[in-house]
Amino acid sequence: MSEALTETPAQRILELLPDPVLLVRAGGRQGPEIAYGNQAAQTLFRMELVGAPLGAALRQPQVLEAIEEALATDEAVEVAFESIGVQPRYWRAFVRPLGVAEGDGRELVLMLRDETDARRTERMRADFLANASHELRTPLASLAGFVETLRTHAKDDPAARDKFLGIMAEQAGRMARLIDDLLSLSRIELNEHIAPEGVVDFAQVTQDVVDAIRPLIAERGVAVTVAAAGPLRVTGDRDQLVQVAQNLVENAVKYSTPGQAVAVEMARAATLEGARAASGREGWVALSLLSPDAAADQAFVVLRVRDHGPGMARQHLPRLSERFYRVAGQKSGGTGLGLAIVKHIVNRHRGGIAVESAEGLGTTFSVYLPAA
Ligand code: ADP
Repeated sequence: MSEALTETPAQRILELLPDPVLLVRAGGRQGPEIAYGNQAAQTLFRMELVGAPLGAALRQPQVLEAIEEALATDEAVEVAFESIGVQPRYWRAFVRPLGVAEGDGRELVLMLRDETDARRTERMRADFLANASHELRTPLASLAGFVETLRTHAKDDPAARDKFLGIMAEQAGRMARLIDDLLSLSRIELNEHIAPEGVVDFAQVTQDVVDAIRPLIAERGVAVTVAAAGPLRVTGDRDQLVQVAQNLVENAVKYSTPGQAVAVEMARAATLEGARAASGREGWVALSLLSPDAAADQAFVVLRVRDHGPGMARQHLPRLSERFYRVAGQKSGGTGLGLAIVKHIVNRHRGGIAVESAEGLGTTFSVYLPAA
């Protein structure tokens, strides 16, 4: 059957379809039998398909019931099912009666579509929405609570009123930051697949960022030094690179305690391996958060931000660039979106990110971007 079907162009196309297609014949001794399976079906079932009972290939009762129904009604039937295994996969089966023969010789086409990736994306979207709503609800609940207090108990208490208004301003600021970061993230995602075109001096961008956040640096009482060897040009989007440098330097400053030093270092690395290299300090854990697909001799511009802050335990490192992930016990007032934003921007720039950290000793984030 299979050989006969590969004779005409239409039959060859059937063979080459990426989705598994089976021709099923009613009335075998053990129920419907497989009369043909294309290449994708062979790959999926890894068994001799022609002549095998359908139940030997597909054990899901939903699919077998759909076949029965299609045979009984002579109508198309669709059904979703899950295949079990190490990694469960989600499928949709399309059953279409061919409507040629009568009685026991009737044939049906059974097409399968793997919907696992679509399901996963859907789940991620739903989780994201739930998380974002939850993050916004917390400051909103606090605001609503204080409004109520100001209307009632604290109505005639000027001292309490001032204090509460201060907290309310802070919570409103937090909501604004969250919304800004969410919008920023969605804008970045929209054009993540389009590589940037401009040429930007990343050393200058970083220096400008540090100058712009001097007030925050002074407020936190941290000493920030910048060491960059000349102009360091990358192919990039200036505004986005500002966000990268700003998020990393701000984090280093935010998580340091007053009096501590933050070192911002920039240099050129002649190879991918050089750009990726970790310091290998004893007791420090190094992890790559994003690694580009680049030729070994591609040159990179590397930005390293070193702090002597609290550091993080090993288990946190792989999750840092997840949206809303925050290390428990660290009080930052942050949104948990900063590193997710950095990751999407660096990914768009075909660059990489690495982190090294030691609890109680500090953290170093490195970002490397292809040199222009
Ligand atoms: P946030 O807005 O909370 O800072 P980020 O995505 O920038 O969000 O960072 C995620 C989490 O990673 C932070 O909440 C913090 O727990 C941890 N983190 C980031 N940078 C540092 C750092 N330099 N030192 C210690 N912890 C850090």
